[in-house]
Amino acid sequence: MTFLIHTYGCQMNVRDSDAVAAALIAAGHRLVEDEAEADLVIVNSCSVRGKAEDKAIGKLRLLCVAKRENPRRMVGAMGCMAQRLGEELFRLVPRLDFAVGSRAARFIPQVVADLQAAGGRQWVAGDIADSDVPTGHVGAGLSEFVTILLGCNRRCAYCIVPTVRGPEYSRPAEDVVEEVRCLARKGVREITLLGQSVLRYGLLGAPVWPAPAPQGAPFTEPFPRLLEAVAAVPGIQRIRFTSGHPAGCTEELARAMRDLPAVCPHLHLPVQSGSDRILKLMRRGYTAEQYVEAVDRLRAHVPDVAITTDIIVGFPGETEEDFEATRALMRRVRFDNSFVFKYSPRPGTPSAEWEDDVPAGEKDRRDKVLLADQDEIGVAQNEAWVGREAEVLVEGPSLRNAQMWSGRSGQNKIVVFPPSDGVARGGLARVRITRARPQTLYGELVK
Ligand code: SAM
Ligand code: SF4
Repeated sequence: MTFLIHTYGCQMNVRDSDAVAAALIAAGHRLVEDEAEADLVIVNSCSVRGKAEDKAIGKLRLLCVAKRENPRRMVGAMGCMAQRLGEELFRLVPRLDFAVGSRAARFIPQVVADLQAAGGRQWVAGDIADSDVPTGHVGAGLSEFVTILLGCNRRCAYCIVPTVRGPEYSRPAEDVVEEVRCLARKGVREITLLGQSVLRYGLLGAPVWPAPAPQGAPFTEPFPRLLEAVAAVPGIQRIRFTSGHPAGCTEELARAMRDLPAVCPHLHLPVQSGSDRILKLMRRGYTAEQYVEAVDRLRAHVPDVAITTDIIVGFPGETEEDFEATRALMRRVRFDNSFVFKYSPRPGTPSAEWEDDVPAGEKDRRDKVLLADQDEIGVAQNEAWVGREAEVLVEGPSLRNAQMWSGRSGQNKIVVFPPSDGVARGGLARVRITRARPQTLYGELVK
């Protein structure tokens, strides 16, 4: 069959879709870009906010309507929403052909074969504690995601992720390194290590390393050791990882970010709120002060480190004073970028039992205020780069202006520059920044 996967949500979903696409290709199906050409369309769904679920359901319904034009059309759902709703999804989308749970994606080729042979519909729940991590990749771009940790055990009060993605499981380090080696041989230069709380890698369950670090080794904690091992893979020039948690921002992590040149000076470190009272209700496990200390620890070793974050506005009981505490924390930390989310109660989470008492209009206002604050800080952060040199992983001609080339700095900022002989896609170039815009830096190659 020809097939296409629509992906909503986070980078873990992007990675899962890629692995499913690779498995479908291995089973003889063909990936297409145009939805009208696809016999099989899968929606990889997100459940983190109500709106994300509405979007996925709307898309599934539209895809089913289009079955009229293509009688071969098969429609499937995977990901967090499919896990949360299970068979209920067939009631909401009556002509849906299959749905698989969040840790059951590897069964999709079999489900498709069964339905082709016998028709009908299938719900495959799988085992929510399954530790099988699909390793296939469709292609090998410059940059690829590698999942190192499944699920989450933190149970923040507002979050559906632990329910829909199951318990935390860390892959053995040797498996991760082997996947990275394989990608590097195909030309991949940048690896992003993924996990909901990625710094918890190797802290729970069976040891991820076959033996403790030797005496005197520079890194002894499981995650910094993994960074060291991935950095040693020939061809890998850059390593990123997401998402972090202040509890994982150890002295050793900061040293690994400083001493391993391949590790990018960037950390996505969701703070969620700057109010201790709200952080406690959210069960985040840190105070605003402890969050700032974690950032300071990283900055002490890696002064240029870019810190990006997630913030929730309108959590139950969030007062104007709590909100102002978040604004104050934003000014104090000076994030390079912030993703602001309006609180959305998720059924089954602890906070869904509490009154969602911040009115929608007020959530909107707080959202806009924080985004405006962040814009101001972001522009200033970018302007501070003017006159300095950034190391850029060259991606090729810029999307907006083919005369110019672009790439990303270690801090994950888009850098645009005029190309020159000897600079090729996949290479690292030094660019002196001459101009800053809110989302982009412009500069010239340093010879
Ligand atoms: N595991 C990551 C972490 O804890 O930092 C991110 C998890 S979630 C996929 C991404 C972001 O969605 C969270 O950081 C949070 O800001 C937001 N989020 C999660 N649950 C939410 C909810 N119920 N309402 C609004 N935003 C939510
Ligand atoms: Fe959700 Fe918290 Fe786990 Fe992140 S750490 S996935 S916000 S429970």
